Amino acid sequence: MILYFAGKEDGRDSSPADKRTIFSEETRQKAEQKSKEKVKAEKKKYVVVIDPGHQRKQDQSQEPIGPGAKEMKSKVSSGTSGIVSGLNEYELTLMVSKKLKKELVKRGYTVYLTRKRADVNISNAKRAKFAEKKGADIFIRIHANGSRDYAVRGALSMAPSNNNPYAARLAKQSQELSKSVLKEYCKATGMKNRGVTLTDQMSGINWAAMPVTILELGFLSNPKDDMSMKSERFQKKMAEGAANGIDRFVKK
Ligand SMILES: [Zn+2]
Repeated sequence: MILYFAGKEDGRDSSPADKRTIFSEETRQKAEQKSKEKVKAEKKKYVVVIDPGHQRKQDQSQEPIGPGAKEMKSKVSSGTSGIVSGLNEYELTLMVSKKLKKELVKRGYTVYLTRKRADVNISNAKRAKFAEKKGADIFIRIHANGSRDYAVRGALSMAPSNNNPYAARLAKQSQELSKSVLKEYCKATGMKNRGVTLTDQMSGINWAAMPVTILELGFLSNPKDDMSMKSERFQKKMAEGAANGIDRFVKK
């Protein structure tokens, strides 16, 4: 639509110089808004699949540890639980994953969860295949740790090694993703950074067809980590930190 103005400029409201100032400020704001929208639109192209680790009941029936593998592993293990809070890993991972989804959507990403409830039965391989079906650019798996040593605390992330028999071609990018997510996560939460662990024993990593990481949020066996992670406010920080890490990975 084109609007024609018949009115004359009378300069009553402002001098020409003022008009220029107003005009340029408006232009600047419009440009800023446009660039924000552009960044958001670009992120929308990125699909992130979040896998809240475990489920209410474990499934000890077996599946190959990777495509074409002879080695078998339980479809879903039981996970750990909070030493003080009693919170189950499958509950914590779902709470944090939902917050992470919310945060990433706010930032413009397209996000899917592999599960939205506790009462599901989805094997680790199936979760990775779900990510592939959704066209994920990033697959982030959320877990929490447990140790017999109550003093052990902090976060770590996991990525395939360069010699992974199933996911070697994704190893470098997955390691980069793991590093970014862990770094920003620890920065936001103050959790101790235990570094990136390279592993070829995780079905959900081996079956992945895109950059993948497991974020181990902290140790549920450590009273301090456990009580921090139970808190709603802390969980928000966890989600923000992980999202910052994904932002950082995407920018590269
Ligand atoms: Zn776990």
